[in-house]
Amino acid sequence: MRYDSDLLYRPPGEWKSYLLQCTIGCSHNKCTFCGMYKEKTFRIRPVGEVLEDIDMALDYYGPGLERVFLMDGDAIIIRTDDLLKILEKLYRTFPKLEKVTVYAGPRSTLSKSLDELKTLHQAGLSRAYLGVESGSQQVLDFIHKGCTAQEMLQAGKNLVEAGIDLWVTVILGMTGANGEGGDWEEHILSTARMVNEMRPRHLSAMTFAPAKGTPLGDDVLAGRFQVCSPERVLEECELLIRNLTVEPLHFTSNHASNYLPLKGGLPEDRERFLSLIDQALAGKIRLRKTLNRGI
Ligand code: SF4
Repeated sequence: MRYDSDLLYRPPGEWKSYLLQCTIGCSHNKCTFCGMYKEKTFRIRPVGEVLEDIDMALDYYGPGLERVFLMDGDAIIIRTDDLLKILEKLYRTFPKLEKVTVYAGPRSTLSKSLDELKTLHQAGLSRAYLGVESGSQQVLDFIHKGCTAQEMLQAGKNLVEAGIDLWVTVILGMTGANGEGGDWEEHILSTARMVNEMRPRHLSAMTFAPAKGTPLGDDVLAGRFQVCSPERVLEECELLIRNLTVEPLHFTSNHASNYLPLKGGLPEDRERFLSLIDQALAGKIRLRKTLNRGI
């Protein structure tokens, strides 16, 4: 298999997927909390190379592949004609293929018409992962997300309207313990409002964990940004869960960054989640040790 480096990222749920590298890095690559692709200069691989990789995957894995994730970040940016060639070849080569999934950047998504997104879905683009991070414009600006809240909302709505299974991620603790990035309640309530309007089928609430070599990681080390306490993060999670009205919603907050793992469906698990959070806040449930808190 041909990859540009050993640093390969995929959503946690894609652990069974064949990772097909269609882009190198992230087209935006400026979010201040994210270190995933900082070492990479973004480029789109020539479609011929990607099609060759599919033949190599057939030799390596055989014809039984069921899931494929198109890497790296933001592969939805690829020209629609080329994405259609990739999808057509994947489904022709692997007859048991069920899902092809992708990270979608908001502006790259908006660069495609709704009809293009529908065509991609009909050709087998099953799911898109959209890093919303926050519904608050102030927070999006603070983290240099590179789009407006309105653009983020529209990108998500277009993916849903095209029939693509949308998986949204948001970040708890993103405003900092002292409001460095904005007001935490506004962050959470705006996020809940955006998710409710976007209507994804899946939502993952991660927790901010400073990453080495990122602007926000440097701010943490220099004392300019203070990481939120576990209690604050749990309060944010509680406020989010109370204000989510979209249903059915597959909700997870069980990433390695999260203090209290939660996984289930809304609305049916709302009271169970809230009870678990209350117990954790009361010290009756031990919180997990999480990633990178002390960079
Ligand atoms: S969070 Fe997503 S959009 Fe932002 S730099 Fe990282 S990969 Fe790119």
